[in-house]
Amino acid sequence: MTNKIKIQIRDLWFYYNTNLILEDIHLDIRKNCITCITGPSGQGKSTFLMTLNRLWENIDGAKSQGIINIDFENGFEEITVPGYPLPQLRQKVGMVFQTPNPLPMGIYKNVAFPLKLIGEKNRDSNFEKVKTALKKAFLWEEVKDRLTQDASLLSGGQQQRLCIARTLVLNPQILLLDEPTSSLDETSVEMIEQLLVILKQDCTIIMVSHYMDQIKRIADTTLVLSNRQLSKQ
Ligand code: ADP
Repeated sequence: MTNKIKIQIRDLWFYYNTNLILEDIHLDIRKNCITCITGPSGQGKSTFLMTLNRLWENIDGAKSQGIINIDFENGFEEITVPGYPLPQLRQKVGMVFQTPNPLPMGIYKNVAFPLKLIGEKNRDSNFEKVKTALKKAFLWEEVKDRLTQDASLLSGGQQQRLCIARTLVLNPQILLLDEPTSSLDETSVEMIEQLLVILKQDCTIIMVSHYMDQIKRIADTTLVLSNRQLSKQ
């Protein structure tokens, strides 16, 4: 654990049309830590995650104000400035969703897909990157002999680890996870918790979770989102 700050959030406001969701958020998020966000449904936890990779900009009627600075190892950069390059931002700030969403293709191709999107064409180096990502996601041993098999044939827990591997293949500095274990069995939950605890050595992790026992097990910092405010628990 470190006290170094990775993300600084200042005067952050967020609206869906006239509906105010986040009000004047001031927050620092520590590097190489697991920050868990909890609180009642519908308060804005998913929305908050989307402010960190600007994914909300794809939503009609959504509007955000304020400043988010991230230290991508060269000092703080303001990612909220207009024109900030979103492909690079989303490469460095990866996201995993509640429901596993593998692409309709084979296991290997799923994890290699982001590499293809950024134009990485070297087959050998791509194979090594995919293998490393699958290992980090604790999935390599289970799939190494069937990499061309359709990803939809994997179990729910394996599909979620595949989605984590697909995000890790670009070596993100920040990993956003939106209730990543809520549709999974106990063994899969345990595996994902273990891999997140290892991953925080290389990554700053921000995870929405409803499960207090899970938060107790893995969180370094817990934030509660309620009444449009995020406060430390
Ligand atoms: P949480 O993750 O805490 O459950 P969300 O961030 O999903 O909360 O949603 C916060 C509030 O914003 C909810 O009241 C929800 O109905 C509303 N909301 C979410 N997405 C949209 C959208 N695309 N358009 C309008 N309102 C939305």
